[in-house]
Amino acid sequence: MSAPDKHDPSTVGEKTWAVHGGNSPDGSGALRTPLVLANSYLLPEDASQLNWSDTSTLMYSRSGHVNQHALEDKLATMEGGEEAVVFASGVAALHALFFTHLRSGDHVVVSAVTYEAVHRLFSELLPDRYGIQATFVDATDPEAVRAAMRPTTRLVHVETIANPTTAVTDIAAVAEIAHAGEALLSVDGTFTPPPLYRPLADGADVVVHSLTKFINGHGDAMGGAVIGSRELVSRIRADALVDVGGVLSPFNSWLIMRGSVTLPLRLLQHLASAQQIAESLEADPRIAFVAYPGLASHPQHELAVRQFGGRGCGAVLAFALDGDPAVQNRFVNALRVITSAVSLGHDESLIVHVAPGTRGGDEHYPEPFQRYGHLRLAVGLEDTDDLIADLRAALDIALPA
Ligand SMILES: *Cc1c(COP(=O)(O)O)cnc(C)c1O
Repeated sequence: MSAPDKHDPSTVGEKTWAVHGGNSPDGSGALRTPLVLANSYLLPEDASQLNWSDTSTLMYSRSGHVNQHALEDKLATMEGGEEAVVFASGVAALHALFFTHLRSGDHVVVSAVTYEAVHRLFSELLPDRYGIQATFVDATDPEAVRAAMRPTTRLVHVETIANPTTAVTDIAAVAEIAHAGEALLSVDGTFTPPPLYRPLADGADVVVHSLTKFINGHGDAMGGAVIGSRELVSRIRADALVDVGGVLSPFNSWLIMRGSVTLPLRLLQHLASAQQIAESLEADPRIAFVAYPGLASHPQHELAVRQFGGRGCGAVLAFALDGDPAVQNRFVNALRVITSAVSLGHDESLIVHVAPGTRGGDEHYPEPFQRYGHLRLAVGLEDTDDLIADLRAALDIALPA
């Protein structure tokens, strides 16, 4: 057995790689990759023949910069892909993927429940402006995906755990169906970052992350990434980074790199806490429903446990009190530890109240979501007992026994 080497990911564990991966000191003696704020890099002696869209030579920060490349190296290894490319937000990464790998006349099979921007891209923007056709399917049912495939289907797009319903897609089953139809499978893995789950190992062609969420983890920088084979990702870099321009800034690259150091350790707490909170909420008769894949009541519970290797089922849950929207609001406003704000995967717990009929595509949400609306709770890193006590106290105010 070879000795562990922090520069060789195949010889070290995921916590070691999270600390050391992609880190390249500059020779000054400083231990970490410095923050490099230059827009331009020194050109070679004869620059006259340079291809200005070349991304292998550091030239101009829109085509590539030191902190971006360090983060990309780290993310590619963390996901088990050959290459990663990062963007200024998760949505920019999703758009870059669709923009690069789809053209007019192509057809896409997309989960009926996705991040809202993806729903709008496929229901409106890409069909209206570029003639790309999309069929929305219940991605929890592989046969529905199979039935929606057409000869022109070029891409199948799903989320590991869907935002916000927490429906779980069987990635291996859907990959097999996509490939049988000569389509690519792209998977949004934002709810299940590595080491919790690696969709590429189950047959996905590319994985997308909102780095804004768990991977940065501190609620202070936005970013997005697409990870996969060199062939697929380098085309995205050439077409959608260099010539569209949604580059991730050096400072955000540096912040996300630093945030990712503790990702494996943070996830342990996020996952354990979310499971306990989901169980505690479900046991309370004042709660109308709890959607969380770690609960036996969740329709894809067994799949989730198997697919995520028993490590946990994410840290986002959706639930509602047995009451009208005013009751849900009273509850949210009575919370003293958990904050009412969008986003997820931050160090602090966040909750958002979403009324029925207010989100694009929410006609596809399960029945209790339609009836009560939902509260999306992104479980943070506070003491689990504090979070449970906060939820209980707010319940007592919103729905006195
Ligand atoms: C937040 C989110 C996105 C979008 O990422 P941004 O960084 O906000 O652009 C995409 N997919 C999922 C599942 C998300 O939760």
